[in-house]
Amino acid sequence: GGLRDIEVCKSDKLQKAFYQGLYACGDIWNCPICAAKVSERRRNELKTALVLAKDKGWGIHFVTLTFPHGAGDDLTDILSKMTKAYGKLSSGKYSVKEQLKKLSPESEIFGFIRALEVTHGENGFHPHVHMIVFTNKETESGLLDFVYYRAWVRACRLAGLPEPSRLHGCHVQDGSFAADYAGKWGIEDEMTKANQKQAKNKGLTPWGLLRCILDGDDLDYPPKRAIGLFLVYSAAFKGKRQLYWSNGLRKLLGLQKELNDQELAQKADDEAAYTLATITVEQWKAIRKCKAEVMILNIAESNPLLITSVINNFVLSSGDAGPHSMGEGVPFYGGRGPTR
Ligand SMILES: [Zn+2]
Repeated sequence: GGLRDIEVCKSDKLQKAFYQGLYACGDIWNCPICAAKVSERRRNELKTALVLAKDKGWGIHFVTLTFPHGAGDDLTDILSKMTKAYGKLSSGKYSVKEQLKKLSPESEIFGFIRALEVTHGENGFHPHVHMIVFTNKETESGLLDFVYYRAWVRACRLAGLPEPSRLHGCHVQDGSFAADYAGKWGIEDEMTKANQKQAKNKGLTPWGLLRCILDGDDLDYPPKRAIGLFLVYSAAFKGKRQLYWSNGLRKLLGLQKELNDQELAQKADDEAAYTLATITVEQWKAIRKCKAEVMILNIAESNPLLITSVINNFVLSSGDAGPHSMGEGVPFYGGRGPTR
């Protein structure tokens, strides 16, 4: 049926204007804009899951799994081995679930949420997983730590990864760490953090690499190196699942079916927003031709009654005006403030 109309909306709560109906790529590994949108929505779901589990009186644990890695590793190779390894944790008689039951029959795992992450540091790429594991109340984090470490060592060996150390390979912490993690999940703190050195000690995230390319002043990551690393990362993570809910967990918690990355990125921006104007495809073409996408949002925030006449002006002027012209008689409203 052709392209749908684009809407200029304004959030009731934030008093900020935005477009709705534009295409979102939904590529959480390569696009910081879609990633921020998707992770904000997923973060809310993580927090909800923790609240629901707490209400049910479940035990909540926070598991971190890593393995030794070096600067010479091939990221695609270690990533696929790691995927194989954590798959082994939940299958067969050596699964964490079965091994836990064997050691302590009254303990039970209800499910888990697993997040895949990567940073880059002195020892090259560092792919790792964090898990929020839900159990019955009787299961203690200490016992889970023992079972997870044993299973993780076995899984890494079978997957062809170097053996994880007792100190760094596996951590199981109590639910407060899970809550802390869920609260910050997906928030790119490097973008806002003034103390870059501290952020770098923990390794650069992929968006940190992009920032190095943009700023061009990092001694360890000059643009050429950062570009190369980002491309390696991008190829390795393409199509990988960032967040995985174990089968049946959402149903146990009473949560609806999960939306995929694309659906989440495309979802309407703000439930409590109202539409100020509807833009046809022809009008949008004129706005783009005049590079007025930002200006329209500024007007929507400051003087919404003018939107229609300003857009019509763009349509009239874009016909014979040059591609970068603002159009005659259109007032200029300035750029977006630095707070955006
Ligand atoms: Zn995108």
